[in-house]
This record gives sequence, C-alpha cells and structure tokens, in this order.
Amino acid sequence: MSLLRIFSLGGFFFLTCQFALAQSNSSPTPETTRPVSVTPSGPQITFNSVHVEGPYVAITFDDGPHATLTPKLLDLLAARKMKATFFVVGENVVEYPEILKRAVREGHEIASHSWSHPNLGKMGDDGVRRELQKTDDAIKAAIGVRPTLMRPPYGSITARQKIWINESFGYRIIIWDVDPLDWKRPGPSAVCQRIVNETRPGSIILAHDIHPPTIEAMPATFDQLQEKGFKFVTVSELLAMARPLPPKPASTVRPPRAAPAAGTAPAAPAPAPGTPNG
Ligand SMILES: [Zn+2]
Repeated sequence: MSLLRIFSLGGFFFLTCQFALAQSNSSPTPETTRPVSVTPSGPQITFNSVHVEGPYVAITFDDGPHATLTPKLLDLLAARKMKATFFVVGENVVEYPEILKRAVREGHEIASHSWSHPNLGKMGDDGVRRELQKTDDAIKAAIGVRPTLMRPPYGSITARQKIWINESFGYRIIIWDVDPLDWKRPGPSAVCQRIVNETRPGSIILAHDIHPPTIEAMPATFDQLQEKGFKFVTVSELLAMARPLPPKPASTVRPPRAAPAAGTAPAAPAPAPGTPNG
C-alpha cells in the first residue's frame, strides 16, 4: 500500500540519477571525517571493506531510526529484496523501537552507533562505556538481541579504544570505503553517482537515513548497483564471506634463471574477475 505511494513520490528519481545537479546545502551536520586507517595486529577488529569472492557489498545507514524516512527506505529495500545494515543511535532506538523490529523482521541487521552521537575518540573511557552500554541495552530491549557491530560517529576512535571496546563488548568496528558525503546534501544525483562509481566487491557503503535527499537518491542507486550485478548482504554476512587476499603474483621474486621456451609465458595464477586488491 505505502509502496505505491513511495513509487509515485520517488518516481521522478526512479530511473536514473542524471537529473539536475544543483541542490541546496543546508544544515551541515558533519557525520564523516576520514576513515580510520586499519593496522590490525592479531585478529582483525576494524573493517573498511572486505575481500570477497563475488559481487557482494553491504550498504549501511547511520543515525536513525527516523520516524518517516526509515520506513520509506525499508519499503525501497523490500521492493528489491535487498538487505542493509542500520547503525542506530540509542536515543532514536528508544523513540522508534517498532521501526527497528520491522527492520529485523525484514532481514536487516541492527548495529550500534552510540547513544547520542558524540566524538568517541575525544572522550574518556567511562563516558564511552556509558554511551555503548546504554545503546546495547536499548537495542536488546527493542529487538531482543544485542548488536555485534559498532560504528563510531565520524569514524572517530583511537587504536586503544578499539581494543578495549572489542574486549568488553565483543564488537567489531565497522568503518566504510564508499562515502558519498550525503550529510553535506550534495543532491540525490551526486549521492547516487558517487556510490555507483565507487562501489567495488566487498565494499561497505556509508549513507544516512535521516536526510531526505539521501532517501530520494536510493531508488536509482539501488537499481544501478543491481544492474551492475552487485548483491546486497548485511555487514555480518559480508564479514563471514571474507577471504584472505590472494598471494601477490610472483613478479617481485625472479625465478632462478629457468629460461622459458620461446613463446611460452610463465604461468601466473589468474585473479578471480572483479576482485579488488584491498
Ligand atoms: Zn553518524
């Protein structure tokens, strides 16, 4: 029922993202800084993207749930049988638990994005612990299970925090490798083009379900990514598909002078088509 309404409302943006580029840039609510670089030692805790063998990607929506935009987004996802991951803010979880329940019913993943969206990297441990514990409890109260993933607001978190948060809460820390900067409200067309151009197999795509232009961009974004063959899974599903990077081609080490017969190229393992290198 509401599906029809969504399609008629979003119809203008449905087929392509090549509509007018000029859009407003109101209310800069900075969400993103640069992604934290990953320097794993021991089991990997932080992920910007995942090496997978196949056209799998995870799209993530931060800062919700939002009273109207998140349900609208859920309609769009359901119509395409796509799964997403929602990094929710605890304050909004207690406001809209029914929306979270619906998201879970429809196969999406719920993950923590702190209670009040502070810059965790600049906070003391006690404050960070409170932010995460309250959110963990609110998600458990809403959907019956605790999250296993966390994304720090602004991608801001220290190496030391990552370790104790992982030890205390069991969370893996999820950043992203595709960032359309949609919080700057560059217009639906730009959001769509940035995501479609930058997404690779194993990508973790960042977007926000609290900005109307982001939701307007999604029909074209989803359709174009699906046309390119991408398949959408939750972040946990993507992490479960992680494969070690293939060994580098042996070009850096010269084989000990085994002169190949003329016309025969040395055999190198062919990389799987479409696999990224990082
Ligand atoms: Zn955020």
